[in-house]
Amino acid sequence: MSDRLGSADLIVALSATDDWMQVSSVDELRDHGRVHREGRGSHVGHGLELDFYDESGRLLRPLLAMDLEVQGFVVCTPAQPEAMESRIRTVLGRVRERAADHPQYGAAGRLEHVPAPGDLSALLEWVRTATTEDARGHQSGWLHNLLHAIVG
Ligand SMILES: [Zn+2]
Repeated sequence: MSDRLGSADLIVALSATDDWMQVSSVDELRDHGRVHREGRGSHVGHGLELDFYDESGRLLRPLLAMDLEVQGFVVCTPAQPEAMESRIRTVLGRVRERAADHPQYGAAGRLEHVPAPGDLSALLEWVRTATTEDARGHQSGWLHNLLHAIVG
């Protein structure tokens, strides 16, 4: 098995401050980044610096071209599923704290369906669905747009 992810492989992107996340394919993540870089999104993602994991919790290193454009991702650590899950739940805790400030996203009810701790694949599927199920906004998904509303 190659240590380089394919374009359809899922990536978990987490801000270094654990207040923003996305579960997307490599291609989707690249497209989303392009929207922000070109200023076409309604939010700018102020100062977010991202860490990347694969679905099993292995930290990924982005491969950059000379112009620093991301060309792909390679695995660079053994899996740390508990650490990754903990970070995802920190983000969700912050969303829960701020949900009442943005009632239009209906987060309070939706957060009741977050899978129980310990089932990482169910958690990633829940985050991915929450990030893609609703095509409103520049990317998609109520969680993505709520996270932008919270962090910019
Ligand atoms: Zn975005």
